[in-house]
Amino acid sequence: MTTSAPTSRSSRFDGTREEAEQYDASDPLGFLRDRFVHAEPDLLYLDGNSLGRLPADTPDFVADVVRGGWGRGLIRSWNDWIDWSRGLGDRLAEHVLGARPGEVVLSDSTTVNLYKLAWAALDLAPGRRTLVVDAEDFPTNRYVAQGLARQRGLDLRVLRTDMDGGPDLEELRAALDDDVALVVLSHVSYRSGALTDMSAVNAMAREAGALVLWDLSHSAGSVPVRLDEDGADLAVGCTYKYLNGGPGSPAFLYVRRSLQARLRQPVQGWFGQREQFAMAADFEPVESVDRFLTGTPPMLSTAALVPALALVEEAGVDRLRAKGRLLGELAVDLTARWLQPLGFRLASPAQPERRGSHVTLWHADAWRICRALADDAGVVCDYREPDRLRIGPSPAYTRFTDVWDALDRTRRLVESGGHTRLPREKGRIT
Ligand SMILES: *Cc1c(COP(=O)(O)O)cnc(C)c1O
Repeated sequence: MTTSAPTSRSSRFDGTREEAEQYDASDPLGFLRDRFVHAEPDLLYLDGNSLGRLPADTPDFVADVVRGGWGRGLIRSWNDWIDWSRGLGDRLAEHVLGARPGEVVLSDSTTVNLYKLAWAALDLAPGRRTLVVDAEDFPTNRYVAQGLARQRGLDLRVLRTDMDGGPDLEELRAALDDDVALVVLSHVSYRSGALTDMSAVNAMAREAGALVLWDLSHSAGSVPVRLDEDGADLAVGCTYKYLNGGPGSPAFLYVRRSLQARLRQPVQGWFGQREQFAMAADFEPVESVDRFLTGTPPMLSTAALVPALALVEEAGVDRLRAKGRLLGELAVDLTARWLQPLGFRLASPAQPERRGSHVTLWHADAWRICRALADDAGVVCDYREPDRLRIGPSPAYTRFTDVWDALDRTRRLVESGGHTRLPREKGRIT
C-alpha cells in the first residue's frame, strides 16, 4: 500500500471527453486501429496485455499458409518454413528487443523457454547453489524456479517485493552474494505494470558473478527493450500479448551471443542439432542460437506472427511506448477524479516512467466489478488476485476515448451498485 494516485491537479489532462477526442485526432498511431479486427465496435477492449487483438491481415495470411503451404506445398514447404523461427527472431531482435541478429529465436512457450535457459545458466556455475526469484513474479516463473531448485538441490532465495511497486533494487542487491547463480525477473510486472531498471539489475548481477534471466512478456511491443545496450544475458517472452501473435503463438528466447557456445539446454532435440538432417548418432548442439530449439515448430501459429510483427515494426516501439504511457496517464488521471471516491486506489507505480503499458487498480469488490464490466457494460479488462482490476490499453489499437469511456462506464457501474447483484464466486479463468 505504498503507492497512491496523484491528484488531478498535477495532471496534464482536464478530464473531459473532448480532450480525449483531441488526443485521438492528433494520435500519430491512429491509423493502426483499422489494421485490427473490431468484431464488436462498441466493445472497449482493455486486455491487449493478455491477448492482443487479431490483426486484419492475419486470417488471409494464415489461410494462405494452410491452403498454399500445407495444402499444395505439402512437405516441400518446409524448405521455406525451416527458417521462419530464426527469421522472425531476427526481426524481433532488431525492432523490438534491441538485440543483434542471431541472438533471438522463436521456440516453445515462455514457460518452457524459461526452464531451458535457467537450466543452461545453472550448469554454467556449478559451484553456486542459489537461484533468486521475485515473490510477486508471474506464477509460472516461480513454479519453474521451484521445480529447478527441487530437481537440482538448489536453494531458492525469494525477494520480498511490494506487490504494487515492483522489485526493490536494494533488496535485490542484498540478496546477491557469491552463491547466487541466476536471478529470474520480469522486466514489467504482470500485476502492477512496474517497470524494472534492466541495466541496473544486470550491472548488479554481473558484479556478483550471477546471470539474469529476464521475462519480457509484458514488455515486448510495449516498452523499448535494449538487451544488448543494457548488458542482458538471457531473456524469454511471449508473443500473444502486445505483439498480437494470437493465442498460444510461439514464444521467443534471447541468448547473448558470447554466451551461446557455453550454454547447453536440457531438452536435446533434433532442431538444436548440428546438421540436423545428417541424422547423426549423437547429439551435438549447433553453434548458434538454434541450439536452444527443441522440436518441430508450430507453423500455423508461427505464420500468424508475420502480419502481426509487420504492424509493430511499422508503428515502432518508441511510438507505441509514447502512446501507451499517455493512455496510462489518462487512466490514472480519471481514476483520481472519478474512481478514488468510489473505493478504488492505484495499485501501480504512480510515476508513468516507472510503469509499462498497463495500470492496475485495487478495489475491495474488484472481482465483481470486473465481471459486471464485461457482462453488462461492454468493457473487457482483467481481474488479478488479490482484488485488482488490470487495465491494459494496448497502444496499437486503443483510443484515448476508449480509455475515457471505459472509466466512465466503470464509474457509472460502481455508482449504481450494478456489480453487487453478481455472486462472489470466481470462475476458472479470471
Ligand atoms: C503471460 C506471461 C507468461 C506466459 O507464459 P506461457 O508459457 O505462455 O503460458 C509468462 N511470464 C509472464 C511474466 C507473463 O506475463
